[in-house]
Formats: sequence, C-alpha cells, structure tokens
Amino acid sequence: MARGNAIRVLRQATLAIIAAALLGGTWLTRTRATSWEETLWVTVYPVVAGDDEATARYVDRLTSESFAPLADFVAREAGRYGIDLERPLRVDLGEPTSMPPLPPEAATPLRVMAWSLKLRWWTWRALKDQPGPDPDIRLFAVYHDPVDGVALPHSLGMKESRIGIVHLFASRRMRGSNQVIMVHELLHTLGATDKYDPANNLPVFPAGYAEAEREPRYPQRYAEVMGGRIPLAPDTAEIPASLKKTRVGPATAAELRWTDVEG
Ligand SMILES: [Zn+2]
Repeated sequence: MARGNAIRVLRQATLAIIAAALLGGTWLTRTRATSWEETLWVTVYPVVAGDDEATARYVDRLTSESFAPLADFVAREAGRYGIDLERPLRVDLGEPTSMPPLPPEAATPLRVMAWSLKLRWWTWRALKDQPGPDPDIRLFAVYHDPVDGVALPHSLGMKESRIGIVHLFASRRMRGSNQVIMVHELLHTLGATDKYDPANNLPVFPAGYAEAEREPRYPQRYAEVMGGRIPLAPDTAEIPASLKKTRVGPATAAELRWTDVEG
C-alpha cells in the first residue's frame, strides 16, 4: 500500500515538474514574441495522417520554401501597420512527426484536461529529438488524404505554448486555402482571437471584416484572417482561395501589437 502511494506521489511530482518545465519555457519566450523587433522563428513539422501513399509523397516534397508565403503575408500585413521589420517571420520545415492526439469530440472539462495533458506529453516527445535551436513558434501540419465531403478535424493554435496543430488537405489545389488556415492558427499563437460566429461561420462585423468601412459594405474584397471568410452578403461568405485575398484587420492588428504598442 505504502509503496503504491509512493509511486503515485512520485508520478504526480514528475507530471508537475514536466508541466512546470513546459510552462516555464513558454513563459520566457512570451514577452519577446510580440515585440516585433526581431525575426520570429517558426518551424513547421509535417505529419502524414493515415497511410495514404499520395499523402506521404506530397509531404515528402515539402520544403521550407513551401511555407514562404506565410512569412511573406505577415511581412506585407505588418508593413501596412507600420511595423518596420523586414522579415517579421522566418518559416522552416522541421522533421516529420507522429500524429498528435485529437481533441475530444464531446468537450467536458475533464476530457479537455486529459487531452491537454496528453498533448503536452506528445509535444515534448515529438520535439525532443528535433535538430537545431528551438523555434519561437511550432506548427504541426497534419496532412490528410483529400476525400470529397470529408471534414477535417478542428485546427487549433495555442497562445500559452505557442503551438499550433493545423489539419490540411494534401493537395496542390488546396495549397492557397491551406496557407490561410496555417496563418490563422499561427496568429492564434501570437494572441489573435477568432472573429467569426461559430454558429454559422460568418465573420463578425466589424472586427471580422478586412474593410469594415467599405461602401457599399457588400461584397467585401478580402477575408479578415481571423474572420476566416470573405463576406459577400449579410448571410453569405466564402473561404478565400489564397493569402492574396486575405488581410489582417485593425482588431487583429491591435491583438498582435502592431498598433497601440506601449512605449
Ligand atoms: Zn481560430
């Protein structure tokens, strides 16, 4: 009995130490991340979901260059808000990893807690053998076989750990919309919040509109990156085909500290 207790106490202590190490590590990087004075390093770790060979081949062909449009987008948008940094982001391709644990479908607090612990453990294991210096932001890009009508699991970006898990279709045709999803989750890790109504996926006015002042209001030309869609009419919005059709609106810019930066 006593021995069982001792093991349990030890196990809890170990978990607490791991949690503290993870949290401590992330806390140190947090203040630096949104100062926009130095280039932020992002690493994308590709994951092949399932055993589809075409998906594996698609992932094999990825290079750091595949993700250059993400860095270009952030440079362009930060520049529009007067951030004077030539290269706010640098995106590198990391080594492939295994499949991350998926969030629970019925999200009770206990299940979410269990999942987030599993996720922390999985992340630690997935990253411990990655070569090179630690990046500021880590994105796991999970590529799925593009099957018509099949919905992907929800992507997520976590500010606390600066980790994003992005579910994408392994298809050249989807490259543009994949990039929009990646930037959306990437900006979550930097403190940007969603600006769409989860009940109907419509961008919320005005924060989820790239050009809220535009007259007439509809159709909008761009999607606000955290609003997610281009509003065409009060009840219609479409997913942007690429980052060319996507902008960072003023509300998101403020969350990213591109505006109203304290001195
Ligand atoms: Zn989101």
